[in-house]
Order: sequence, then structure tokens, then C-alpha cells
Amino acid sequence: MSTKFGRLSEYPRVPLSVLPTVIQPAPRLSTELGLNLYVKRDDMTGLAFGGNKTRQLEFYFGAAQAQGADTVVITGAVQSNYVRVAAAAAARLGMDMHVQAEERVPDVDATYRQSGNVLLGDLLGVHRYAYPLGEDEDGADRAVQAIAEGLRTEGRKPYVIPLAPGHPPLGALGYVLAAGEIVVQLQANGTRIDAMIIGSGSGFSHAGLLFGLRALGQDIAVHGICVRRDAQAQTVRIGLQCAELARMLGLQDVVSEQDINLFDGVLAPGYGQLNPATADAIVLAARCEGLFLDPVYTGKVMAGLMALAANKTFPEGGNVLFLHTGGTPAVFAYGSQLQHWVEP
Ligand SMILES: *Cc1c(COP(=O)(O)O)cnc(C)c1O
Repeated sequence: MSTKFGRLSEYPRVPLSVLPTVIQPAPRLSTELGLNLYVKRDDMTGLAFGGNKTRQLEFYFGAAQAQGADTVVITGAVQSNYVRVAAAAAARLGMDMHVQAEERVPDVDATYRQSGNVLLGDLLGVHRYAYPLGEDEDGADRAVQAIAEGLRTEGRKPYVIPLAPGHPPLGALGYVLAAGEIVVQLQANGTRIDAMIIGSGSGFSHAGLLFGLRALGQDIAVHGICVRRDAQAQTVRIGLQCAELARMLGLQDVVSEQDINLFDGVLAPGYGQLNPATADAIVLAARCEGLFLDPVYTGKVMAGLMALAANKTFPEGGNVLFLHTGGTPAVFAYGSQLQHWVEP
């Protein structure tokens, strides 16, 4: 199978994830949604509460080690899951971790600033820098390069993990491999899937999954749910990342424009901001399946799935795979807001 992924094996990779993650049926949520729902438990990838970032970071830490780096620099939201998992990986590999914390979410409370991923980052010993303009992605990218430059003048060997466009989407390679893992699991179980649902933020997971499926000749629909920017902007971003993946792997004509599906109907009021549909989805998943979703990503993805199901996007009783990409620690960071939605 790996030959179908072209030059992927040439990219250095540090194993960080416990794989394969299981695919579980969700029978009570299925009844609620009028679908046959399965959940790919990438919230259980093992390192530091897991999530999609462990698969992505295997390639960034692979590149960092290949360059002889002793320090990692990353930028992300204050409650970033990426930062938490990267810090845990750095700890495990004996590297220092410098974090630029972007103010992306307005009107946050003390719990948001101290609990969840912030607390875990403190335990992991990250060095933090504040970045006030969380919506300026290019500015955040420049600022993180400046932090790395400062570390270089101190004699450190920093490796920057970039999120912004304009850098090779190494993280997406983790989800190209995940597509292969899923196809093997579905074939072994004899399960046919009509559609997959995944959060689309940086886009690495969405682009990698879509690219990997198509490279394997699988035409399963992939629906990205927007969690950061609107569908139009995200469509452009996913298209660019798929083109870049083709270039990196030496493959051609893998993903076409019609393959890129994005839904932004549950994004409002914006990144990291809870809305009623998302709160309802979080409570429903907990009470139907004992499954925890988060306010920033997976809760919105479930709310998006419910909206798509209500719009008859899938055949009645169709088989849908929900990619649970993690984010569990954010439940605690948003605890005071979530509390409002919980009936005694
Ligand atoms: C980062 C993240 C996403 C979005 O994944 P991208 O690869 O950045 O698009 C989805 N879910 C969770 C829990 C995340 O932490």
C-alpha cells in the first residue's frame, strides 16, 4: 500500500502515536441522527491525551531531529491542543519547548487562561510568549520566526513548527497514513462507508485524509467542517495543500476540486467560541455514547454532521465515519460556559 503514497517513506518520522486507533459503532447517536455512525477514535492516539496532532507531529519531530534541533518553537491559540501534544513530544525527546500563545478568542475567563491545555503546558514546562493578534496568521508566523532567531543567537538549534500557508504541509502526511490505516480497518471488518466527517482548521488532517483516500483509489466523500475560517477560504486552503502534497510525494491528479467539501454553518460566532448547536452536540454525545467532544473542534464537527444529516446530505441510514480528533482537555478550559448547558 505504501507505494501508492509515492515518496512518503522518504520523510523522517518519529513514532509518537499508539496505532491503529479503533473504529467504534455509535448505536445510540446513530438513532438520534438517522444514520449508521462510526467513530474513529483518534482521541486515543496515546500521547498526552492524544488527538490528531500526534500523527501530524511525527513528521515535524522527524524533520527537527534530522536537522539536529535541540529546541522546538510553535505558535497556537492559548488553548491549543497542538501546543500541548508538541510540548509532550519535546519532553519525551529531551528538547526544549517555546510556545507563542495567540489571543484568538475574545472575552475569555480565568478558567480558559489557566485550566485545560494551559495547565498541561505548565506541567510540561513550556516557555510562553504572548501574541495579541490571533487572527493575523502571517504576523504570528513572522513572530514565531523572530523567537527562533533570538534562540539561535543564544546558541540554540531551534526548529519551528509552522501552521501558516507557505510551508510544506508535513503534518498532513500523518493523515495520508491515517487514510491507509482506515482503509485497512474497513476492509478487514467488511464495512462500507459512504462519507467521512472531519474538522478543518489548519487543514492538515482534512487534506491528508482526502489525499490519502484518493491515492488509494477510494472515492468515499470527505466532509470538512470549518472551525476557523469560512468555507470559501478553507476550500482554497485545502486545494493548495492537496497540490503541495502531490508535489511532495511525486504524485499527480490525485484530488480534484469537486472532492473538496466544506461546511461552515456551525462556525459562528468564530474560532474557539461555543454556540448552542455545539453545546447541544457535546451533551448529546456524552449522554448517548459516553463520548466527550470539545467546544473548539469536535463538538462543532458533530454539530456540523447533525446539520448535514438534517439537510439530507447522506442517504437515509447511510454509513458515516466521524473522525474524533481529540481536544478533550479543552472541555475543562470551557467548563464555566459548558456548565450553563447542563441540565441537572
Ligand atoms: C487541531 C485540531 C483539529 C483541526 O485539525 P487541523 O489538522 O488543524 O485541520 C481538529 N480537532 C482537534 C481536537 C484539534 O486539536
